[in-house]
Amino acid sequence: MSRGHNFAAGPAALPEAVLRQARDELLDWGQARASVMEISHRGKLFAELAAESERDLRSLLGIPANYKVLFLQGGATQHFAQIPMNFARRDQVADYVVTGHWGEKAVREARPMAPVHIVADMGNAGYTGIPPRATWKLSPEAAYLHYTPNETIHGVQFHDVPEAGDLPLVADMSSDILSRPLDVSKFGVIYAGAQKNIGAAGLVVMLVREDLLARCPKDIPKIFNYAEHAAQGSMLNTPNTFGWYLASLVFKWLLREGGLVAVGERNRTKAELLYACIDGSGGFYRNDVEKAARSWMNVPFRLANVALDAAFLAEAEAAGLLALKGHKAVGGMRASLYNAVSLEAVQSLIDFMRDFGRRHG
Ligand SMILES: *Cc1c(COP(=O)(O)O)cnc(C)c1O
Repeated sequence: MSRGHNFAAGPAALPEAVLRQARDELLDWGQARASVMEISHRGKLFAELAAESERDLRSLLGIPANYKVLFLQGGATQHFAQIPMNFARRDQVADYVVTGHWGEKAVREARPMAPVHIVADMGNAGYTGIPPRATWKLSPEAAYLHYTPNETIHGVQFHDVPEAGDLPLVADMSSDILSRPLDVSKFGVIYAGAQKNIGAAGLVVMLVREDLLARCPKDIPKIFNYAEHAAQGSMLNTPNTFGWYLASLVFKWLLREGGLVAVGERNRTKAELLYACIDGSGGFYRNDVEKAARSWMNVPFRLANVALDAAFLAEAEAAGLLALKGHKAVGGMRASLYNAVSLEAVQSLIDFMRDFGRRHG
């Protein structure tokens, strides 16, 4: 059996060129005469990799000089708790906008660390859109405003950066970082688990505006303190060296692909083609998200006849179209279209969906 087209939500598809390179150098990396997994993170060779990966990420995203780049662990979920621990005083309100499952989780993990104020919550409407900015009631003394630019499970995405006034904007970009150009200067903190658009699970990339690091309290364990991680170049303890290495290969691949403008155009095309297939299916397939909030990265869709779900998934898999089952919280199907999912893969999915619709419609 050969590799299929992988539409998994996360851990998700990696660029084949990156996997091939990692395979080719697995035993013997660069000048190391050992695997990248077998060498000290404090040695010269790994230090060079770390520095170069940061340079590449800075160039891809145009990260301003007053932002630190951190390579951390714990998954996005750990940082749901660690962000309020570092950036809010224990008695200081933190504002959250909730547009789906991951926003809910972020709130749940933040509550033990800081009083949470829900600025807007789309839960009652089933998470199918973005609450109009004019309806948000920010707390004047809030520590920050947190939101989830792309809700991976509900397929709801902000296509503009919301206005946060004087509050530092904190964004969980786990499922849309590096998917198109971004104005980093509008944010206080950006963080992302790596397993969707950066590389392998177990690595978290964080961009943090330097002035915010002054808030990190001295009375928390060092290992939770972002200012300590920043001061130590993300080497306060042993980092996820293999994950960092894979991320460095993905950054190089993105640069070779033409950077985020080119990648963003391709992502837009992929999403537009798939939504057009769904909307043009005469009701055989449907996506319930408001058009202006539809995600380019995660496309949930349903079959009008749920009795066909199992056949759809089985036939798709037999055709080499993998991991299309929707999240259990939403049901139906979901196609994730991260950077490593090619236009050709999306075209194959669309051809399959049209054919399945003709045969079962
Ligand atoms: C996948 C995902 C997470 C969870 O990441 P973990 O690494 O499992 O903690 C959080 N937020 C978003 C938006 C995600 O897509």
